[in-house]
Amino acid sequence: MNRFAYARPATIADAAALLARPGTRAIAGGTNIVDLMKEGVESPDLLVDLRRLPLSEIREGEGGALSLGALVTNADTAYDPRVAERFPLLASAILAGASAQLRNAATNGGNLNQRTRCYYFYDVATPCNKREPGSGCGALGGVNRIHAILGASDQCIATHPSDMCVALAALAARVKLHGPDGERIVEFADYHRLPGDDPSRDTNLAPGEIVTAIDIDPFDCGPHWTYLKLRDRLSYAFALVSVAVALRIEAGEVREARIALGGVAHKPWRRPEAEALLVGRAAEDEAAFEAAAARLVKGAVGQGGNDFKIEMVRRAIVRALGQAAAGTPQPIADKRIA
Ligand SMILES: Cc1cc2nc3c(=O)[nH]c(=O)nc-3n(C[C@H](O)[C@H](O)[C@H](O)COP(=O)(O)OP(=O)(O)OC[C@H]3O[C@@H](n4cnc5c(N)ncnc54)[C@H](O)[C@@H]3O)c2cc1C
Ligand code: SF4
Repeated sequence: MNRFAYARPATIADAAALLARPGTRAIAGGTNIVDLMKEGVESPDLLVDLRRLPLSEIREGEGGALSLGALVTNADTAYDPRVAERFPLLASAILAGASAQLRNAATNGGNLNQRTRCYYFYDVATPCNKREPGSGCGALGGVNRIHAILGASDQCIATHPSDMCVALAALAARVKLHGPDGERIVEFADYHRLPGDDPSRDTNLAPGEIVTAIDIDPFDCGPHWTYLKLRDRLSYAFALVSVAVALRIEAGEVREARIALGGVAHKPWRRPEAEALLVGRAAEDEAAFEAAAARLVKGAVGQGGNDFKIEMVRRAIVRALGQAAAGTPQPIADKRIA
């Protein structure tokens, strides 16, 4: 690890001013950034510790909305009674991620900004356009079992690793940011980026900006939600693919559908046109599930090692829709086991 300076500002404005300087990185729970520094992937000159900032609360909004502070831990978010009751999909997705110890340290802002788990990104001896622009991509033609099948580019086929973000995408959350020019709010769908020709950028965060909160409006889906995570082992492991579903069902008919996928793209993957195929259909219409799944994965491309994901995610979507339509009798803690 390189030598670096350390600052612990007490105000959001001071943190933003420090982070606007080149060579500066934020640290919150530290469960990702410290690993990256140890591996030599990140070597900031200045590390700005956010933990003194007043961002550790979950606040009530209008009509049951919640604003999740960036520094609230993943565990405190999942177990907050308001989150568990109003947004069980989110609580379930968080509890499906990492381990209890990690969730106690990891924060909401850090979860949104954690970096890809691509093996080549972490191995500084290999080429990686995300780590070192223009150096190439070791995963293309390499070991790419965990890589993207949707929205990838010829520069980068990495996936976004978060579980929490898949649920937040389905819940159409908004990300509140604070930077040198003040506050702005970004729709969750616009927060993370596809790799395109600049895979070094994972998000649309501008220099000096920090996430201050994540805002969620209520979505009344009753028991018709599910988070289905498929992975190599039940103990902590990142998703090979995951599916977040929330359905508003009235009189046996789907009135609104939200579906987001994890493990398949550089960002949580949502296609409203696929969700529209379910609206007006009977709640347990398998043909409609198949049509929505086909539309969600349309254009999927494998890279050899990850070809299996195309069929796997298609089947996972159909299964998750069936689970959500039938209701969710299991408690949240059980639902993390796919
Ligand atoms: C062994 C292991 C298994 C894991 N398994 C899973 C899993 O299954 N599912 C899953 O979703 N995650 C998993 N994780 C990842 C874990 O959830 C993240 O490391 C964690 O959420 C990051 O939060 P943090 O507060 O520790 O972030 P940090 O490590 O402090 O920061 C991460 C990044 O976010 C930036 N950052 C932090 N806060 C802010 C902010 N407020 N605004 C802007 N930028 C910010 C930092 O600069 C850094 O770039 C796993 C991690 C480990 C180590
Ligand atoms: S997939 Fe992306 S992160 Fe992985 S080696 Fe290629 S450029 Fe780097």
